[in-house]
Amino acid sequence: MKCPCGSEKNYSQCCGLYHSGVETAPTAEALMRSRYSAFAKNQMQYLRDTTDPQTLDSIDDEANKEWAERAKFLKLEIIKAEEKGTKGTVEFKAFYNVDDEDFVHHEVSTFRKQAGEWFFKSGKIKAEKK
Ligand SMILES: [Zn+2]
Repeated sequence: MKCPCGSEKNYSQCCGLYHSGVETAPTAEALMRSRYSAFAKNQMQYLRDTTDPQTLDSIDDEANKEWAERAKFLKLEIIKAEEKGTKGTVEFKAFYNVDDEDFVHHEVSTFRKQAGEWFFKSGKIKAEKK
């Protein structure tokens, strides 16, 4: 099965490695992709595990879970990925479908590297221009 993140690799050779804990995502972009795949595969624990503990309090698990269950994840597009030391920024568009309607989630996420592992820190939603 192809990985939901769009890498053209098999899931077990791509984000599956991170979801199962065999490997940790080497870059902020890899973490971003694996978090998208985690939504697609309803891997809520992975989403928690890769969120900065300081951010975790503000995450609504139930809402995320409900969204992941309802939405069909169609495509991930990485627009820009940058890393500077222990800080990473990834701008992306996630295409998904809910009840036969297509949506685009456009976000700039920031990531932080702690003891060699990347964590999601925060996300800023970008409004879509029509
Ligand atoms: Zn992947």
